[in-house]
Amino acid sequence: MHIDQMPADQVIELLEKTEQSYRALCQAGLSLDLTRGKPSAEQTQLSDALDGILGGDYMASDGTDTRNYGGLDGLLEAKALFGQMLGVPAQEVLVGGNSSLALMYLVVDFAQRSGFGRPWLRSDASAPKILCPSPGYDRHFAICDYLGIEMIPIPMLETGPDMDAAERAIAEHDNVCGIWCVPRFSNPTGCIYSDETLARLAALPKRASSHFLILYDNAYAVHALTSDAPALGNIRDYALAAETEDHLIQFGSTSKITFAGAGIAFLASSSTVLTALKHHLSFQTIGPDKVNQLRHVRMFDSFGTLQDHMQKHASLLQPKFDAVISTLQHSLGGTGMGSWTHPKGGYFISFETLPGLAQRVVALAADAGVKLTPAGATFPYGKDPNDSNIRIAPSFPNINDVQAAVDAFVICVKLATFRNLANQASNRTV
Ligand code: PLP
Repeated sequence: MHIDQMPADQVIELLEKTEQSYRALCQAGLSLDLTRGKPSAEQTQLSDALDGILGGDYMASDGTDTRNYGGLDGLLEAKALFGQMLGVPAQEVLVGGNSSLALMYLVVDFAQRSGFGRPWLRSDASAPKILCPSPGYDRHFAICDYLGIEMIPIPMLETGPDMDAAERAIAEHDNVCGIWCVPRFSNPTGCIYSDETLARLAALPKRASSHFLILYDNAYAVHALTSDAPALGNIRDYALAAETEDHLIQFGSTSKITFAGAGIAFLASSSTVLTALKHHLSFQTIGPDKVNQLRHVRMFDSFGTLQDHMQKHASLLQPKFDAVISTLQHSLGGTGMGSWTHPKGGYFISFETLPGLAQRVVALAADAGVKLTPAGATFPYGKDPNDSNIRIAPSFPNINDVQAAVDAFVICVKLATFRNLANQASNRTV
């Protein structure tokens, strides 16, 4: 029954039952973790063939000895492979170390201090600001926080960032320098940006300052869970049409394709941006780990092989997502106690409690031995204005643990909701 139609005595009855279930849960001694979107051991094992794949042949296709220094922007064949993932030609790709987050930090830090043309940080300008579609990826927000960049939250819709809000924010604030984007299977809502969003996004730099950057983190470009997952339009085409290609930087990595701690990260942009970044990089390194790049291109001899590999990930992940979604549907569907996403890819399910209850649910779960991402983490400054968003990451635990964790989660949602309803009812009678 929907909670709005529930008579007060039934609320009290269900509250008592749920208190009992919660007490039993706390006594069960659970120790489960649904916090971070890490691939499971079975997933990383899918790429164990990387070990020894070179068989002593370290030469790249152009004769480069990958064991030696050099090749600041990566191997040609790696650029070609990962360029296909981002929908750009090989010459627009820079292949780096293992972490795309590190490349994002590098770009934002560089843009602040030196910049592509003008630095974001200037004595004659107000503090740099970045638009943060929310809920979003907490580590994007952490980069801003750490570097002293003001974050402007804008709503996240099913079609991607609310572009009306983004355009308004640019008009209303000084020195808006960029926008964070996770365009396919967004973290955490799983949405895929629509073509209209991409077109407006690509045109955004024209409304903003000359140093505005679209920080386009395509972390889940090939991470579909279902065969009917919609494709993402090509942002580069939109940027070329809008003549904003110098304002677009795409990022990606194989962290959730091969090894999360030993994959390959890459970025793509115009030659102007790449030249500036390569110059900046040349003071930090003589070149990236090309041996690892070669291992990856030997393992994925074509983009098709890489896509086949991703289906193996999907078949390991899908049952875990199904377990979460079917349990939520079965236990909470039609009750009005929450809503959740049904992602067709990526690593997360985004859950909305009734307003004001997310922190309580996360605290109840923690006391019962189930760790969830802190409520608020998906918003700039850790502040969810509605205190309602909870990110569920089911990839890492085994299926039994995922099931146990979501069963516990449901009890916590019910308990927080019934306690709240009972409180409201008793306040009304006082
Ligand atoms: N970007 C997004 C949206 C993510 O969700 C994650 C990891 O969860 C990353 C980047 C991290 O990428 P990398 O491992 O390449 O640093």
